Amino acid sequence: MNKNWSDMNKEMQAMIAKKATFKDGMEKLLALRKSLFEQITQIVSTFPAEAFYQMPFAGAEGYHSKTLAYSIWHIFRIEDIVAHEMIAEDQQILFHQGFQEAIHSPIVTTGNELCGNEIMDFSRQLNVKALYRYAQEVMRSTDQMLQSLEYADLKRKYGEEMIGKLRNTRCVSEAESASWLIDYWCGKDVQGLLRMPFSRHWIMHIEAMQRIKNRLCKLARKGVDPIAYCGFSCNHCFLGEWCGSCRTAYNTCSFATISPDGKCPNAVCCQEKGLDGCYACDLLETCEKGFYIPSNDGANAAKAQALYIRKHGKKEYLKAHDRLHEKYDFAKTQEILGQDYKEGLRILEET
Ligand code: SF4
Ligand code: SF4
Repeated sequence: MNKNWSDMNKEMQAMIAKKATFKDGMEKLLALRKSLFEQITQIVSTFPAEAFYQMPFAGAEGYHSKTLAYSIWHIFRIEDIVAHEMIAEDQQILFHQGFQEAIHSPIVTTGNELCGNEIMDFSRQLNVKALYRYAQEVMRSTDQMLQSLEYADLKRKYGEEMIGKLRNTRCVSEAESASWLIDYWCGKDVQGLLRMPFSRHWIMHIEAMQRIKNRLCKLARKGVDPIAYCGFSCNHCFLGEWCGSCRTAYNTCSFATISPDGKCPNAVCCQEKGLDGCYACDLLETCEKGFYIPSNDGANAAKAQALYIRKHGKKEYLKAHDRLHEKYDFAKTQEILGQDYKEGLRILEET
């Protein structure tokens, strides 16, 4: 489990258990949820539509055997049901504001009953943008509810009446793989619910989503030119695990993710000019676009690498990178190539 999330979760659990630290514990829970939700936002805003129904770990044991779309649906259906049917006892978000229609989901259940290809078929039908808006709204309303809870509310228990109510909603399938959920939830008090559907359950599924997206990026990069348009080597990039390269639809490099259309300005410019990369451009030395913007501390290192490619070719460049990594221990090339592209080029050539 991600250490930061795991630590926050443990601290939150210990804090909400005591009256004196309850409010701070709830603040920690909100911060944990915010941090986790950022992962979902990043995935939804940068990954192509097809990524949401792929199952790169189909058949594996564990949450990573699902799809990205299923994971989002499942996390927030469970939260919606538990937060609104059990704790707030008001209306689920799915059934108002037109979410059910907008998402195009053929089911209203948590999805636990789906298996194998059913998960992929289900995911393919979902409108991911609408699903994301639903997730945002569920999170917003839950956060509001969490902020209004008092320490005394944590001991509230549930019994047969709630079991019957949840069954009547038909939001949990009667299939064996799903029906246990109702007994599971109703066996907990509010504190127990905070410890699972609103926190740990998120961590487990969002970590699984990270595994899925990393795998999809790896698969996307297979057979693709490992030299990025700006001159970086995807084979040696510290973001290589989660970026599928600017030459594929799985481009999640830093400048792509901060660009409004999700496309790196250097990639777009090269494509418009019909260039293989910035190393083939006459304006390279003076260019301040995208990755080469002067405020980016990696700008000159990228330029040094692009210039090396221009002078010595891609094959030699990849070999030079191997040598650089053998010689030095670093994550970002600017740590070695510095802030002057001519000096960076010299270092690369002497390596
Ligand atoms: S961030 Fe750039 S260099 Fe790194 S893997 Fe992505 S496209 Fe390649
Ligand atoms: S103008 Fe800049 S971003 Fe565009 S191809 Fe040339 S070096 Fe690359």
